[in-house]
Amino acid sequence: MEQLVTRQQFNDWMVPVYAPADFIPVHGAGSWLWDQAGKDYVDFAGGIAVNALGHRHPQILQALIEQANKVWHLGNGYTNEPVLHLAKKLIDATFADKAFFCNSGAEANEAALKLARLVGHSKQPDQKNEIIAFNNAFHGRTLFTVSAGGQPKYSQDFAPLPQAITHLPFNDLAAVAQHISARTCAVIVEPIQGEGGVVPADPAFLQGLRELCDQHDAVLIFDEVQTGVGRTGELYAYQAYGVVPDILTTAKALGGGFPIGAMLTIDRLASHFQPGTHGTTYGGNPLATAVAGKVLDLINTPQVLQGVTLRHQWFIDRLNKINDQYQVFSEIRGKGLLLGAVMAARFAGQAKQLNQLAAQEGLIALIAGPDVLRFAPSLIIPETDVEEGLNRLERAVQRLVR
Ligand SMILES: *Cc1c(COP(=O)(O)O)cnc(C)c1O
Repeated sequence: MEQLVTRQQFNDWMVPVYAPADFIPVHGAGSWLWDQAGKDYVDFAGGIAVNALGHRHPQILQALIEQANKVWHLGNGYTNEPVLHLAKKLIDATFADKAFFCNSGAEANEAALKLARLVGHSKQPDQKNEIIAFNNAFHGRTLFTVSAGGQPKYSQDFAPLPQAITHLPFNDLAAVAQHISARTCAVIVEPIQGEGGVVPADPAFLQGLRELCDQHDAVLIFDEVQTGVGRTGELYAYQAYGVVPDILTTAKALGGGFPIGAMLTIDRLASHFQPGTHGTTYGGNPLATAVAGKVLDLINTPQVLQGVTLRHQWFIDRLNKINDQYQVFSEIRGKGLLLGAVMAARFAGQAKQLNQLAAQEGLIALIAGPDVLRFAPSLIIPETDVEEGLNRLERAVQRLVR
């Protein structure tokens, strides 16, 4: 029998890169979690936009168990059946001709940025290597991806950083037009900045980036790690924008809770990667890809995708109602089930406090910066759970206002 563990021991034993909540969830089902004391929580966080079908979805569980009874891991000296099925599904569902698999969003972006550099070098060695990224962007925590990210606090203390990355204001097409040149090998952008505060790109901005990349022979990378796999009501957000990237990165919801990431691209770019130029031990692991294949089957259906838009409205209607009464938010924004409630000026910087009050009331949500309360619930959350979760949020709001 293992000893009882407590939240306090996190502080004793864990490298302190996180400050987790003061309770430990031990069990989940659908949109619900229970902690060690048996207290229940409605889950509007979904493991940070990961558990897109809630906790322990029976068909995902079955896919995991079935594959666990076959083979867990082979390494890249062998391919496997689940990875090929998953690649075909992603190719059929998107612009892509080829897929590369890895274990996280950061790794997917790392692959995308390396590929863009490789392509640039093949055109103009030592010249075409500049990457344009955006302020407040988030692309992961490897050194290359924190450098591409637009929050210096995540990168500056790890200098020297990868060079030739320029940050411009998000949604400012004129700034990009002024800066982009023959030296630019890639532009990387989130269709909706997630960690940066749930800020959607203007359609004209993404369209303009597409045109500028074409004019300057640069690769357009959409980081859809947070927006992908149904989150916005389309399988990928680019599909609603009608702007097609050259490379798309996806992770988070792709595994429904099992770690996996992928970079999708077109033949013309994919062929620059050759055996030996890039890789990762676990990439395309059969357990991960079997689970992701089932996640895609379940999410990429008209019912689930249209259901996201329906659920968006449930959230918006009720959040507006709460706000009419308490005036805590200045704006509710986002698409589908990636929603941000921006704290009103009077409550500036208090998103974390509201989130903590919500947890006390039995609601797990997220923040995106100091001023935005963020929701990324299961894409199939039932209406009664949305209602119950927002009842609990309202109680937290009442306490914040008091
Ligand atoms: C979460 C996130 C990442 C990083 O993904 P990890 O799996 O944590 O490495 C990258 N880009 C975006 C837009 C994200 O939201």
